Amino acid sequence: MEQSAPNGSCITMAIHRPAAITDIGARARLVELVAGASSVVALTGAGISVPSGIPDFRTPRTGLWEKVDPMEVAHIDAFRGDPVRFWRFYGERFATLGEKAPNSAHHALVGLERAGRLVGVITQNIDMLHRRAGTRRLVEVHGSIATCSCPRCGGSVAVEDVRERLEREADGVPRCDACMGPLKPDVVLFGEMLSARSLTRARELCEGADVLICIGSSLEVHPVAGLPLLTRATGGRIAIITQGATPLDDLAEVRLSGDVVEELQALAGALAAA
Ligand SMILES: [Zn+2]
Repeated sequence: MEQSAPNGSCITMAIHRPAAITDIGARARLVELVAGASSVVALTGAGISVPSGIPDFRTPRTGLWEKVDPMEVAHIDAFRGDPVRFWRFYGERFATLGEKAPNSAHHALVGLERAGRLVGVITQNIDMLHRRAGTRRLVEVHGSIATCSCPRCGGSVAVEDVRERLEREADGVPRCDACMGPLKPDVVLFGEMLSARSLTRARELCEGADVLICIGSSLEVHPVAGLPLLTRATGGRIAIITQGATPLDDLAEVRLSGDVVEELQALAGALAAA
């Protein structure tokens, strides 16, 4: 078929047109699913924060991640072994994330929650954007930058205070008032386990969901990537709104690969009009 096509543009059109029709059908099906469900849950990943200007570190060579290997520098061993180097990287991350604001996709989820259409949001993101947008029932499975804790004595410090300490300390390491130990962000670093409590809450939400909408996640990072399977196992359905392929595409009742802001605004608009 490709050999008989007269030129490249015809091939592009032949692929593009059916895809557009599929998207219209998938959007309508998503509205139908959410409108008919009693328990809808959203699972979000880095893709929902990209429109806020926060790059996905899995996209190679972007911004902050260009010069470092996150698996090495954002690793618990790096924090323990060389807190100055760790905070040289992570302090920049704290400063960058502090300037970012939630986007219309975050706000659309808040609107769905307030309208009684969404029972909760599970996020892999540490950027605080869901909570700043106003999502009330939120499970941050990888933690967040909202606080730092002292691994030695358990002291806790809020993000604004951490930023002040980052600027004040000569070596750039924010320290605990009580024991002067280096503070650690309350995020799940590489090499660390997820908190059992948040994972349990995420599992409960997914098991109870009629519909799980996976947004902006490549669904490749375990154990979060296994959460949609819990929804499926209890008879629920999966919708995926993510650019790029995911390992669970074949299990999804709805598969949309467009812009997350556009898709969520379209969903919210259609539900409001229903
Ligand atoms: Zn301490």
